[in-house]
Amino acid sequence: MVMINCPRCQVRIGVNPNDNDTVHKCNSGTPALDNEDVQVTGNFEDSDGTTGNVGPYQVKYAGLANSLWGTRAWVEDQDDEKRTSRGRKTSYWRERQHFEHIKIKKRIAMQTDPTR
Ligand SMILES: [Zn+2]
Repeated sequence: MVMINCPRCQVRIGVNPNDNDTVHKCNSGTPALDNEDVQVTGNFEDSDGTTGNVGPYQVKYAGLANSLWGTRAWVEDQDDEKRTSRGRKTSYWRERQHFEHIKIKKRIAMQTDPTR
């Protein structure tokens, strides 16, 4: 077994050096690294089984929801719309678990290259 670090979430994982690649379910505990943003364009079913129904109405009016709408803060352009942990507006984007595809031999070569 060889230890490598996930290039996304930096968690150390053990892999078989004879495998060509692996998929790491990022689990660093930091939401910004463990999840990824996906633009809301329609119905979805994620790899973990969660589903969501998004109709044409939600797609057409995505981004129009703002908790400050009509208030003074809205008039003065204070935008406090909820955002994902990576800063995207939640009315356009949703979050899902990130799976990092890692090429094992490339990672091992990077770790053992004496010229770097
Ligand atoms: Zn990871």
